[in-house]
This record gives sequence, structure tokens and C-alpha cells, in this order.
Amino acid sequence: MEREKEEYILICKDICRNYIQGEQEVPVLKQVNFQMKAGEFTAIMGPSGSGKSTLMNIIGCLDRPTSGTLILDGQDVSQCSENELADLRLEKLGFIFQNFQLLSGQSAAENVELPLLYAGLSRTERRERAAQALDRVGLGDRLDARPTQLSGGQQQRVAIARAMINHPRLLLADEPTGALDSATGKQVIELFRQLNREGVAILMITHDASIAACADRQVTILDGVLTEGNYEKDES
Ligand code: ADP
Ligand code: MG
Repeated sequence: MEREKEEYILICKDICRNYIQGEQEVPVLKQVNFQMKAGEFTAIMGPSGSGKSTLMNIIGCLDRPTSGTLILDGQDVSQCSENELADLRLEKLGFIFQNFQLLSGQSAAENVELPLLYAGLSRTERRERAAQALDRVGLGDRLDARPTQLSGGQQQRVAIARAMINHPRLLLADEPTGALDSATGKQVIELFRQLNREGVAILMITHDASIAACADRQVTILDGVLTEGNYEKDES
């Protein structure tokens, strides 16, 4: 039983999330049950407003469920304090967003080394690891470039280098190709596939069926209800 638990990087048990709108409590996630094994690559599909980002924020320990249990790498996070959650995010999770979320006033290297600053590494060590990480995503010659001097695809690669700098076991990506043209989006996915081959589990939200098809498994959220499979494929 213990062993079985360890195999899973992520277990969502009956996760519900309600938002208060005016006087009303509106359910946005409805009894979500979902597991991911270590090293899995899964895409979440669903129309706008279906609850994808809400679920991602809960899995990323940025928000707490109204009810239900989240077990991350064997640990029940409902028992964690805010500080413990911050440590957990730093240690186990990487985040990628549609609009890259880079600091515009900082260079590529400074953006990438930010998580290491929180982790308390020395300046030299931070710079060295940031340079290696940027090299891995093909930007070893752009360490000093500001985000505005980089293309969208390059900015997303900086964001990927930043997300991977602490060697997370689970990479969470919310519409990572949403702001990119399809060829550049495919390059980002190729980078994900490479990271996945090295053992990183990836959970990726996308609207795009051709991007979702690049993952090994597809799940769908419709109106806060998660089901296995790709709704677009199932309809055709
Ligand atoms: P998606 O990412 O699938 O587009 P979201 O998870 O962002 O959907 O939102 C799902 C639903 O929850 C939407 O109806 C949205 O309006 C609502 N919602 C999201 N965040 C909040 C919030 N902080 N307060 C109230 N309602 C919210
Ligand atoms: Mg969203």
C-alpha cells in the first residue's frame, strides 16, 4: 500500500472548490478524482471557464480546495502550513504560464536564477546553474538579454529553464503554447517531451487538440467535472 502511494506523484481525492459570488456559493470543481504516476505526461483539455486553472492552482498549492484531499509526492498537503507549502512548491513543482510571467526588468539569467535565490544559493552558484539551464533550452548565448529582446518562443524557453532549475518532479503548465504560433508551440512541446523522457512528470492545460495529442494521456474538464479522455476526439 505504501509502495503504491509512492508511485503516484499526484492524487486528487474528491476535490471540490466553491467560489462565493454575491450571496451564492458557486461550485467550480465538482468531486475531482485524478491521479498521476511519477513520470507521466498528461494534458487537461476543456473549454474556457470549465475550471482548468482553478484545478491547476490547487494542484500547485497556490489555492486550497473547499473540500477533498490533495496528495503530492506522498504528502497530504492539507496538513501543511503556508510556509511548508512554499517549500513544497520550491522543492517539488515547476510552473509555466501562457504569458511567460518573466520579470521584464531582469535579464534571462536573473529570471532563471530567482528560485535559487529563494533556496538560498550563493550568487556564483546561482549564475552557474542559470547558465547551464539556459544552455539546455538553447539560450546559452542570451544570458543577458531582457525578455523584450526575446521572441515569444525564447521567452517561454526562459520560463521553462526557470521552472526546471530546482529539478522539480512535477511540471505544471497552464496553456504554455497559448501565446505562441503553432511551429513555436511544437518546439516547446518537444522540450517538454525531452524533460519527460528524463523522468519529469508534466501536467499541461491546453485548448489545442493537436498539442494535447502530444501528451501520453488526455483528460477533460467540463463544467468542473473531470473525465478521462479527450472530449473533442470523442465527439468526432
Ligand atoms: P478555465 O481555466 O478553465 O478557463 P477557471 O478555473 O479560470 O477556468 O474558472 C472557472 C470558473 O470559476 C469560471 O466561471 C470563473 O469565473 C470562476 N472563478 C475563477 N476564479 C474565481 C475567483 N477567484 N472568484 C470567483 N470566481 C472565480
Ligand atoms: Mg485558465
